[in-house]
Amino acid sequence: MRVLVLGGTAEASMLASLLAGQSGISGVLSFAGRTKAPRVPEIPYRSGGFGGAAGLAAYLKAECIDVLVDATHPFAEQMSRHAIQAAACANIPLVCLSRPLWRPEVCDHWICVADMAAAAAALGQEQKRVFLTIGRLQIEAFAAAPQHFYLVRAIEPLEPTPSLPRHRVILGRGPFTVEAEEKLFREEAIDVIVTKNSGGEATFGKILAARNLGLPVVMVARPQQAARAVLHDPAEVMAFLLLHQSALLPREE
Ligand code: NAP
Repeated sequence: MRVLVLGGTAEASMLASLLAGQSGISGVLSFAGRTKAPRVPEIPYRSGGFGGAAGLAAYLKAECIDVLVDATHPFAEQMSRHAIQAAACANIPLVCLSRPLWRPEVCDHWICVADMAAAAAALGQEQKRVFLTIGRLQIEAFAAAPQHFYLVRAIEPLEPTPSLPRHRVILGRGPFTVEAEEKLFREEAIDVIVTKNSGGEATFGKILAARNLGLPVVMVARPQQAARAVLHDPAEVMAFLLLHQSALLPREE
């Protein structure tokens, strides 16, 4: 059985490791190609877009893929939409693997917003020191609030340099501990954190650190997705794949 995993997340890499140890299932992990040095998976991988939903459907057919797993990031809205269309076109099952949402506790001070423009506006007029961990694609939204200082954390150096007048980039790839996040927020005198509601353990430390220090968090909501069944655990996806594999095997008469 052949499986294509749309990746770019820790969950996709975990599933790839499980697939590497599974005989009878050959998996391919797909990266968008945005990260210059992705962690090399234990299964074959490919990199770069497919050319829209039609391109993905053509790939699924050409590579005789039996199951498509969408394990992209919850904010990779377009790829997830294409996955639904392409799996329907190729007439194969689609399984979604995604982290559960983070949810606030009563002691948290979250300001929930729909998008980055609203996040920039939610910072207010008064000058603040802002910790920004939103990926690199939407940083320019904060040019609308140039009065703040932004400490931007990214996996790789940002090119081009963000046009925010007052900012510094620090590099880091999760997981991040709550202790390290608290130390960083203290040393940098951070007033407020801006993050997407990505979910997952690897970057939850900043949410716990904000809770411990009583800092507000501007939380950007996930984009709306078409209704679909979502699994949260790579092991659950493996169980589904094994079930599907046994259904594909020819029955003995
Ligand atoms: P997106 O806006 O949903 O997708 C844009 C285009 O990138 C897609 O139409 C597709 O190109 C290509 N693409 C996306 N994921 C791909 C994959 N796994 N394999 C092959 N092509 C892919 O995606 P995005 O938000 O830019 O995210 C890009 C990648 O970074 C994803 O793999 C995602 O899992 C990862 N990531 C995203 C975020 C985030 O906050 N958005 C955070 C962490 C990791 P074609 O139309 O040409 O096929």
